[in-house]
Amino acid sequence: MFLFFSYSNFFFLCMALFLCHPCFPARIVPESVTVITSESQKTQRHNATWHEFSKFLHAERGSHVSGMSELKKYFHRFGYLSLPETTPNFTDTFDSQFESAVVRYQKRLGLQVTGKLDTETISAIVAPRCGVSDAATQGIHATRRYAYFNGKPRWTRGTPMTLTYAFSPTNMIDQVSVPEIRAVFERAFARWASVIPVSFRETPEYDRADITIGFYLGDHGDGEPFDGVLGVLAHAFSPQNGRFHLDAAETWSVDFKSEQSRVAVDLESVATHEIGHVLGLGHSSVKEAVMYPSLSPRRKKVDLKIDDVAGVQSLYGSNPNFSFSSLLQSQNSLNAAFGLETGFFKRTISLTVLILFLCA
Ligand SMILES: [Zn+2]
Ligand SMILES: [Zn+2]
Repeated sequence: MFLFFSYSNFFFLCMALFLCHPCFPARIVPESVTVITSESQKTQRHNATWHEFSKFLHAERGSHVSGMSELKKYFHRFGYLSLPETTPNFTDTFDSQFESAVVRYQKRLGLQVTGKLDTETISAIVAPRCGVSDAATQGIHATRRYAYFNGKPRWTRGTPMTLTYAFSPTNMIDQVSVPEIRAVFERAFARWASVIPVSFRETPEYDRADITIGFYLGDHGDGEPFDGVLGVLAHAFSPQNGRFHLDAAETWSVDFKSEQSRVAVDLESVATHEIGHVLGLGHSSVKEAVMYPSLSPRRKKVDLKIDDVAGVQSLYGSNPNFSFSSLLQSQNSLNAAFGLETGFFKRTISLTVLILFLCA
């Protein structure tokens, strides 16, 4: 079994490297990406965060690789590794504590548990993701894999509940028009509203809105600075805070046909995910769920999956017009049509991200 996976991974890696060159003679994810921001209106250069972590591929317990302390900081940031007790900084050695962290990470992200930095794990690490820590949540269930924030906070506005949302009057972006952004968020809120007895209404009164949405660059005053192109895409706060922040440095897209950038990120997918946090959901370990923590560039994932729906309904109850059986039926037919549950398809998706970064 072990040999099978080794040869299999090697085969796919060779395929990935082979396919990279003829298809993408230029760098897919550039070392630095030119971004014109709405705030400064001047060209800035940012690094495509985390792509250098691909050099740790195949590291395992006992490995010593220069720069691994940076990867440990990543694991610390997202809740998998505590700060060292005896030394002031992380070391570059893959020790037993780090191995345990890798195992926790692999379990939490629904990966094969090997304790090593294998292809699938590195692919997950370098993928752009949500900035909300995976440790801020609890409640991985035996049968469901959704999670809540610690303490299971939810909005309490009576029944039926209406939450208002507003866009920042100052922190928006130029690359997507305001009407397009409004349409994206209207659809994203409607998806959640269709499964729980909660409705959402846009309001022009930003200061009085329950949910406040804006695009920010770098350090924006809440202790969770954004990091430029890719890396962290967005974050949102647990109920009943309502702050919803997107990284203004991303190439936000509402239509991949007109936005050709290889680092384009689908705004609607991220909006749908972050609304889940605003409502009280944490990260899911179901890869196809909207609440899974990472999202590859140029990927659209907006449809709520059974895991997302079960999670949010356990907080708010069900919308009387919602039917679980029809959702189940539509997802089964989708899975059958696209072969979502086959090992080949899963492996291909996880490799896509790594291909991007190895070719960089
Ligand atoms: Zn998230
Ligand atoms: Zn923020």
